[in-house]
Amino acid sequence: MPGNVLFEAPVKGRFSSPFGLKRFFNGEERNAHSGLDIAASAGTPIAAPANGVVTIVADYFFNGKTVFIDHGQGLVTMYCHLSSSSVAVGDTVKRGDIIAKVGATGRATGPHLHWNVSLNNTRVDPAIFIGAFQP
Ligand SMILES: [Zn+2]
Repeated sequence: MPGNVLFEAPVKGRFSSPFGLKRFFNGEERNAHSGLDIAASAGTPIAAPANGVVTIVADYFFNGKTVFIDHGQGLVTMYCHLSSSSVAVGDTVKRGDIIAKVGATGRATGPHLHWNVSLNNTRVDPAIFIGAFQP
């Protein structure tokens, strides 16, 4: 499936928190940030970055409303803190299809998209896939 390695950014916005950022809470180091945060106003449409199949639509305590897309070849993307989603488990999505809207559900301090990319169950920097990687 050529063309699936390069993603479109799922939402336009400022990268507010990069992947791998070390976070501290009460002076103790917490897990490094597992995704890329893109700040955008609530209700901003989020587009599928590549073709795939929706595998999970859920509402989690920390991540809020969340959608997972399986792009094949071990490549899975996850979208968190959504205000709403417009897909269901089993839906086939095409690159550019609107899947959800930006929100602040779960433990979020303000509206943003928390975007995770995992490859064979390992979290990788989403910026790599949209040509925005900065070592
Ligand atoms: Zn985040």
